[in-house]
Amino acid sequence: MTERFARIIIDISHEKVDRTFDYRIPAGLLEEVAVGSLVLIPFGKGNSMRKGYVVGIAGHADYDPDKIKEIAGIVRDGVTAESLLISLAWWLKEQYGSTMNHALKTVLPVKQKVKPKEKKVLKSLLDHTQLLKALKEAEKRNYKARVRLFQAFLKNPVIPYEIAVNQMNLSAATLKPVIEKGYVSLDCEEIYRNPVKTKTGKENKVLLNEEQQAIVDSFCLDYSQNKRTTYLIHGITGSGKTEVYMELIQKVIEDGKQVIVLIPEIALTYQTVLRFYARFGNRVSMINSRLSAGERYDQFERARNGDIDIIIGPRSALFTPFSHLGLILIDEEHEGAYKSEVSPRYHAREVAVKRASLQGASLVLGSATPSLEAYTKALQGEYKLFRLTERAKKNSRLATVSVVDLRQELKEGNKSIFSRSLKALIQDRLERREQVMLFINRRGYANFVSCRSCGEAIRCPHCDVTLTLHNNSRLVCHYCGYSIPMPERCPSCGSPYIANFGVGTQKIEQMTKKMFPAARILRMDLDTTSKKGGHEEILTAFSEGDADILIGTQMIVKGHDFPNVTLVGVMAADLSLNTPDYRSSERTFQLLTQAAGRAGRDFRNGDVIIQTYCPDHYSIVAAANQDYEAFYHQEMAYRRLMKYPPASGLLTVQFSSRQENCLSEASAAAAGFIAPIAEREGVQVIGPVEASVYKINDIYRKILYLKQENYDILIKIRDQIDGFSEGRRPLFDQVMIQYDFS
Ligand code: ADP
Ligand code: ZN
Ligand code: ZN
Repeated sequence: MTERFARIIIDISHEKVDRTFDYRIPAGLLEEVAVGSLVLIPFGKGNSMRKGYVVGIAGHADYDPDKIKEIAGIVRDGVTAESLLISLAWWLKEQYGSTMNHALKTVLPVKQKVKPKEKKVLKSLLDHTQLLKALKEAEKRNYKARVRLFQAFLKNPVIPYEIAVNQMNLSAATLKPVIEKGYVSLDCEEIYRNPVKTKTGKENKVLLNEEQQAIVDSFCLDYSQNKRTTYLIHGITGSGKTEVYMELIQKVIEDGKQVIVLIPEIALTYQTVLRFYARFGNRVSMINSRLSAGERYDQFERARNGDIDIIIGPRSALFTPFSHLGLILIDEEHEGAYKSEVSPRYHAREVAVKRASLQGASLVLGSATPSLEAYTKALQGEYKLFRLTERAKKNSRLATVSVVDLRQELKEGNKSIFSRSLKALIQDRLERREQVMLFINRRGYANFVSCRSCGEAIRCPHCDVTLTLHNNSRLVCHYCGYSIPMPERCPSCGSPYIANFGVGTQKIEQMTKKMFPAARILRMDLDTTSKKGGHEEILTAFSEGDADILIGTQMIVKGHDFPNVTLVGVMAADLSLNTPDYRSSERTFQLLTQAAGRAGRDFRNGDVIIQTYCPDHYSIVAAANQDYEAFYHQEMAYRRLMKYPPASGLLTVQFSSRQENCLSEASAAAAGFIAPIAEREGVQVIGPVEASVYKINDIYRKILYLKQENYDILIKIRDQIDGFSEGRRPLFDQVMIQYDFS
């Protein structure tokens, strides 16, 4: 009988054990052990039992057959990874330079089987007529929560308790009286956890317009001819991209295939998901970070079993174990959240391209403001480009956008954060009982210094990014290390009015209250949304008219449709413009365009006011004109000039250590080692420089940037750095190296 050997990745998070080990498969397990199995194996000198993933099976071993050990057993409650996902893990490891163990953890987001448990559900005890009566009564008394509950019951007589509390914002206090009155019962049921339930396949199709139909036709033609490729839909806000997605999904599931829909977590609101449920019923499920591990496990299980055809979720939904995948859809393709912040630092778009090719699926990307990466590929013909240039809803027009120069306001004596025109428009909307959104496009650290007289932010002369204020005394470039003492006067105009620019949502809220004491104000930021469901609760309250003004960060520009919002104010566009990141103009353009898309979703005309110190900056001008093309070309010229992606490949090598001296020595040694290779290969090397936040949790971090157009050369250099660090063991044992390609 022929022997079989399994190649196994041991499940321990230790950087230095990143290799496979060969084990003999005992005769009794020959039938069961497959690629993807989780097995028990004796490991090390003491033969302690460890878990490991089988990543390959062969007829021979790369190890002395007399010494080789045997697999001890199969972990039966472990989630098995399909061989497809294992292939994807290998690719992640190679492509992004992570350990195989980290790569496996990424493709297997839920590791442990979670027993199905009893689940609390709310059941309506009223018949249709009684329900309508109860609804009317609740409406009359203005019991909004009860109205929501009864409306939901009209669609589905059973609602999981979790959903009622977390997604419909029904509190125990609201539910108690309706239960006591005998309208509703609270029961326990053993059900497959399904995050949302509505009636099956209740269609609410719209008649597609010509532009929409053209996309669907073109996709369907390719699909029926077995052509699989990547499509980019560039469609302005409200142009009906989601309706197009649903048609494409329909086509693919009618063919018996499955679909993954990625939506950024921040936009994954009940309202968005509900549109998919309304169309596809219980063939759809969703995952998000608020689901419990058990709920997530069940969604993956349902996908594996064929209970569902469509999964909607953030980045991690990309690893749903569908074996007949036909389509991956990525909405808001430009979103930063699609890039993983932990190793392997993959981008969902790139992994989607890979997974689609492995399974012969199509990939559709959609955005109102495509990433430079995607749009470049579309222009080069690598992706098929479609455009949606009109608002889909009848009579819905894009808002009128005006840019207000804050320097001028100061010059004319207005020191308030509200320009005169924004103040007048807010007043007007409050009188007309329409709603206002005030948007603070702040992200991460906005610790730059700018001049209130001329509007200039102080920038690095070598890198064209803003300098960051350290300890209120020095300005430092986070890309090259250039540093100067904090100047007393503006280097451009000599004005003494220069300061650290930091406006928070809380401060804006206080000032808004003072300026408009009668207005009802809601604030949405990390503080107010950190509790479970907080995000949904605030958006729901605002869309139900519980407030006149919603103040928030970029969270407020996503997901919900607010027909009564007719004014959007961007408090200081400079906040996202002056971040120490080569993508700051792109992010600013995206945020402003999305924010502008929030106003005037309905038949009424909307206004958008963008307040800024740099009214002439191309990202602001282009956003005000809603001119993506103009922005794209200017920004690409800058990227080419500075050799930033996508004009060039950028490899970020991060060194981190608890010991500052080891860190300095190791990063300098690596830089010295690379220098001659880089010279030969035409790679530009910058650094090592301190990371934007140098010390986190007592771990110091330094960064090397490598720029070169040819991605393969960067991968080669990465492997050489790995080899170099292996050879310098005692020093590099103290230092961790992480890679990030962009
Ligand atoms: P996007 O995803 O591009 O922001 P949506 O698909 O959400 O756009 O569409 C915006 C609004 O227009 C939605 O209310 C949608 O129901 C409506 N809509 C989309 N397509 C059509 C159409 N062909 N006819 C009428 N209304 C449409
Ligand atoms: Zn100045
Ligand atoms: Zn610099």
